[in-house]
Amino acid sequence: MPSLSEETGGRVERLMPGATIGIIGGGQLGRMMALSARYMGFRIGVLDPTPDCPTAQVADFQITAEYDDINAIRELAERSDVLTYEFENVDADAIDQVRALAAAPQGTDLLRVTQDRVNEKRFINDHGTETAPWKAVNSFEELDAALDEIHYPAVLKTRSGGYDGHGQTVLRSDADLERVRARGDRGGGFPPSILEGFVDFAFEASILVAGNGEDYVTFPIVRNEHRNNILHMTIAPAEVSDEVAHEAHALALRLAEGFRLAGILAIELFVTKDGRVVVNELAPRPHNSGHYTIEACSFDQFDAHIRGIAGWPLEQPQLLKPAVMVNVLGQHVAPTRALIADHPEWNVHDYCKAEVRHDRKMGHITVLTDDTAETVAGLESTGCWNDLKKA
Ligand code: AMP
Repeated sequence: MPSLSEETGGRVERLMPGATIGIIGGGQLGRMMALSARYMGFRIGVLDPTPDCPTAQVADFQITAEYDDINAIRELAERSDVLTYEFENVDADAIDQVRALAAAPQGTDLLRVTQDRVNEKRFINDHGTETAPWKAVNSFEELDAALDEIHYPAVLKTRSGGYDGHGQTVLRSDADLERVRARGDRGGGFPPSILEGFVDFAFEASILVAGNGEDYVTFPIVRNEHRNNILHMTIAPAEVSDEVAHEAHALALRLAEGFRLAGILAIELFVTKDGRVVVNELAPRPHNSGHYTIEACSFDQFDAHIRGIAGWPLEQPQLLKPAVMVNVLGQHVAPTRALIADHPEWNVHDYCKAEVRHDRKMGHITVLTDDTAETVAGLESTGCWNDLKKA
């Protein structure tokens, strides 16, 4: 695992309005970051291969090139005061190469740790925090040996590059193992992987922590409902015991301090039936499960991200009202648009993506409420999300 170097993390040079923030990646997360930054008076540049991508629509300039095009990253750095990113699979070496041109207040250790599930698990455990039991596995022999320790059911994941359940297989029996073996025999090979014990969780949750390199603040712990491995709904706050809430906040602060975090870190959690809080994975960026903060909190995850990388002070965010956030995937665009006029309580967010595709995140809706269960039932009863009904 990379050791944390002195030059990354820690004190962030304070940025003043008028400075330019360069964002690598121009999707909805970049767009919402850019909108927050604009309110604070920053200028925005974005690097994304799609002309007029969601972030470019609200930015000052776009560099239209692939994310890993080093010349394009250099140009973005030349035209920016600081660099940030909206996804974690950014080339950390490329960012290091241009750090003389623009600051990278988040550092690149955070990227290197979160890009690799083994580094990530080790970092989490080294900071006094529980994960599923795990073993790095690089061959079928190592997988057999790891299964002897971890036992079924287990989850085999690629070390890097996986998202929304891609690159992972649940192993419940020898028959599942044989299927993985057959895949390898057909030429799939054995990518560097990690075997995790299957966590029999009561529900999935997440917590956001923000930092400016020196001080750290946490957002409330929220409950997440996934369908087909994609986030469907977030309920804020999660109904948890004081102990669970306390552990979630404490582990978030431990990890933030470990990274000397600047900007936002999202922490995906499992809450077990016996009240333990187990970290699943980390995302070094604003997160879909934090979109509710835009309306429900005293300042939101995008504000916190921008303030953090700008070296501004951070105040502990307050939940002003409970909220339910539901994603609008491609198949939900038409049915939700047809109902917008009937639902003044819907805070509608449309990412203005040119192409509507099945399962593509196109927008989200947040409802502030005193009764989250009633609101969840009300949203489901519209029928807009019937394709995601649990079998
Ligand atoms: P990930 O790509 O690691 O976020 O995993 C996607 C989803 O798979 C999670 O949101 C969980 O629902 C499920 N999952 C992943 N790892 C585990 C695990 N070790 N135990 C149980 N469920 C898991």
